[in-house]
Amino acid sequence: MEHRRLIACHECDLLMRKPADVGARVASCTRCAAKLGALAGVGASLDRICAVTLAALITFCIAQAFPVIELNANGMTSEATLVGAVRSLWTSDMRSVAAMVFCSSILFPLIELIAFLYLLVPLRIGKVPPRFNRVLRVVQLVRPWCMVEVFMLGVLVTIVKMVSIADVIAGPGLFALAGLTVMLAVVASFDPGRLWAVHERLTSARKTDIHWKRVAGRRERFLGAQRTREQARSSAMTAQRAGLVGCHACGLVQAHAAGRTHQRCSRCGHPLHQRRADSLTRTASLLLAAVFAYLPANLLPIMHASSLGRAEDDTILGGVAYFWTSGDWPLAVVVFVASVLVPMLKLAVLTLLTLTARRGSAWRPRECTALYRLVERIGRWSMLDVFVVALTVTLVHFGSFAVITAGPAALAFAAVVILTMLASHQFDPRLIWDDVDADKHCARTDRRSVH
Ligand SMILES: [Zn+2]
Ligand SMILES: [Zn+2]
Repeated sequence: MEHRRLIACHECDLLMRKPADVGARVASCTRCAAKLGALAGVGASLDRICAVTLAALITFCIAQAFPVIELNANGMTSEATLVGAVRSLWTSDMRSVAAMVFCSSILFPLIELIAFLYLLVPLRIGKVPPRFNRVLRVVQLVRPWCMVEVFMLGVLVTIVKMVSIADVIAGPGLFALAGLTVMLAVVASFDPGRLWAVHERLTSARKTDIHWKRVAGRRERFLGAQRTREQARSSAMTAQRAGLVGCHACGLVQAHAAGRTHQRCSRCGHPLHQRRADSLTRTASLLLAAVFAYLPANLLPIMHASSLGRAEDDTILGGVAYFWTSGDWPLAVVVFVASVLVPMLKLAVLTLLTLTARRGSAWRPRECTALYRLVERIGRWSMLDVFVVALTVTLVHFGSFAVITAGPAALAFAAVVILTMLASHQFDPRLIWDDVDADKHCARTDRRSVH
């Protein structure tokens, strides 16, 4: 059974009544302050987002076709395109890193833009495109892995790095890439879950109205009865306690089928979980793997440079120290924060959250959720050094004069970024709130039934 008048917060599971009309504004959860983006109406923003997505797709093609940076050193010229950077890594036996750079800077942004346009254009003219569900899921799946803005920062860092050794010329691709970064930021600000509102309006507006009223009537009676029992031990009604579950892909709240292991959303077909199964075990395993990769990432060389018979190895910290001593301290700070501090912060915060959730602690849940949100947002920026390596390897390729190749730390570093991003995706923030307001015994029984 669906409860279309209710919303379950995706971060703390609080059950709320949907306001009549929020317009294009984004509502936030009253308990954990999470943005409930999918709740906002689409309104006139559908036109705007449609135009920006189309413009971004055209700019994407321009950014691919032209060189991003050109380098002149001792009469020799080399240039780097996005595809060229991937090809250089592939030919220098860094195939996994090449695949990561290709997916995060070329393939996934392209899939996101094409899939988004496939949904937006028909909805704009009042039609629901075939396979709406699946294409929307594709957009939601690839979005966290699109890192064009991080690649753009990587280009800027590479330019500053190269200026001291050669003449650097910004290619037409760089301007296209800058434009694309801004446009993709606008596209990313639009939660694709909001398209469900348009989908429902177009498909079964009348039928849905009747269904809403009927369900809402039942829901109110059900909630009223539950509240009196629950209020003795809790001030917050969560979807789990009400026997409901909110879909993470489309936001629809529906009855939880107890005993069924693989329940799927009645609207979009996405698997439903009251709490993500084995969330803490999976997060802990991924974190442990990330810690093992973090050490070689910082200790081994990330780049080998050979120039006129001399060979030199460069580690991440060595690169930071070089920028600092040569006076480029803003760049040293950027690289240090993105490559050393952010992965360390992610590991520390996720370990803290996993431990507090495992112990059933109700310690500062609002702050813990805010920390989780922060690591989710900043995690992607650690890819900066991988992109810098990819671009440097492509640019510095002057035969016996100077050649730079990627070192083993590039692979270890890329593994840290992927593993920590997967760990934060596996962590279920609703576990932070399970022990808040409820008595310990009740919460422990709940957790045992989850794992
Ligand atoms: Zn919340
Ligand atoms: Zn759904």
